[in-house]
Order: sequence, then C-alpha cells, then structure tokens
Amino acid sequence: MEELNLSQRLKEVASLVPLGSKLLDVGSDHAYLPIYLLQHKKISSAIAGEVVHGPYQSALSNVKAHQLDKQITVRLADGLEALEDNDYVSVITICGMGGRLISTILENGKEKLSTISQLILQPNNREEELRDWLVANQFTITAEKILEENDKIYEIIVVKPGISNITQKEKQFGPFLSKEKSPVFIKKWQKEQKKLLTALKQIPENYQNEREQLSRKIEMIKEILNES
Ligand code: SAM
Repeated sequence: MEELNLSQRLKEVASLVPLGSKLLDVGSDHAYLPIYLLQHKKISSAIAGEVVHGPYQSALSNVKAHQLDKQITVRLADGLEALEDNDYVSVITICGMGGRLISTILENGKEKLSTISQLILQPNNREEELRDWLVANQFTITAEKILEENDKIYEIIVVKPGISNITQKEKQFGPFLSKEKSPVFIKKWQKEQKKLLTALKQIPENYQNEREQLSRKIEMIKEILNES
C-alpha cells in the first residue's frame, strides 16, 4: 500500500490524535488525515465527513485506492451531521477552515459533542473567535501548536470538555502559545502588527472609534511581544 505524503500541518495534527482513537474528520476532502492515521496504526477506525460532492468523491476513491474501506467510512454530510448514533467517535478533527466556520460547525452540532473526549482544531484564521466559542461552550484548551509551512502560519488548538476561564489576552494569542512564544509565534504577531500599523495610517483622523479599536489591538500585540 502506497504511503501518503502528508503536509507538515496535518502531520502535526496527526501527532496530537491519541492512540486507539475512533476519529471523525470533518471537511475531509481527500481523507488524507484518516488514511495517514490508519497507515500509522494510530487509530482504530474513522469517519471522513465532507459536504461538497467533488471532494467527497475524491475521499471515497482515495480510501478505496488505499484499501481502507473497512476502516474508513466516508459520508456526504454537513459538519457534525456526519456523526450517527452508535458511531462511538472519541476524537473530532476539523482542519484547514476559517475559525468562524469551525465555530459554526460546532455550534450547529453541539448536541453531538457530549460524548467526545477531544477536539483537535486547525483554524486558518480568526483563532480568537474560535477560542471564544470553545470557552463559552465549556471546553478547556489542553494544548496548542503553531507552525509555518509554505510561508503560511497555522495554529492548532486541542480541547477537552471542561469549564475554564481564560483572559482576553489568552483568547487572542492562545494560553499555551503566548507562554511558549516560539519564533513562529513572534513572526506571526510581528507581521500582524506591521499590517495593522499600515491599516491605522490609512484610517482618517475623524474615524475615532475605528482608530481606537485598531490602536488597542496594536498595543496588545506590542505588549505580548515585549513581555519576557
Ligand atoms: N481538512 C482538510 C485539510 O485540512 O487539508 C481539507 C481542508 S479544505 C480547505 C476544507 C474542506 O472542508 C473542503 O473540502 C470543504 O468542502 C469542507 N467543508 C466546508 N464546510 C464543511 C461542512 N460544513 N461540513 C463538512 N465539510 C465542510
């Protein structure tokens, strides 16, 4: 069976999946993550959920090509509708989408989350909004990662059920990432600071509210970058 050449981003996600999990991968356009995890004997079985017909077909044919149709069920479904009674899924991954879309998928299917032990999420943007949804819906962040691949910086957020309290600063920068302050984290926020400073220069003086909002954001970034 041919080994998959997975992106570094999805390899990092795979490394966070607990051994022996039963997985639901939402937005599994090629079913790469479930295939990789099964090839590496990290999971027992998986459901690959995909809402768009073309990517769903491509997930189906990849699973077949890797002779994993007994272990991976591919379902054409919107978000957590891919989960059926008696699936006994323990971990859900949702990767490569905006933070707002991930929050919407979780919100629309939240009654299905009560039996899940872990969510592993990789938002492409709006991480703060996603953390906000997670904490408001009684999930605790247990780990975070940040990585750069092909000039793009990605964050990965792992949560389990449980009430937690995090500050606004932690929502924005990540409770673990902001403590670790890796070189990639610093690069991400230096770039963002530069972008916002340019944007601020373009806002006319009489747009007081907008200027203040942006200045506050810039100040928060400055603080986190200067903290030791
Ligand atoms: N998860 C893969 C990854 O990280 O490389 C694929 C990312 S791809 C950019 C996003 C995929 O999510 C697309 O195939 C899209 O059709 C699918 N998608 C978007 N909204 C979805 C939803 N509500 N339910 C299931 N799949 C969805």
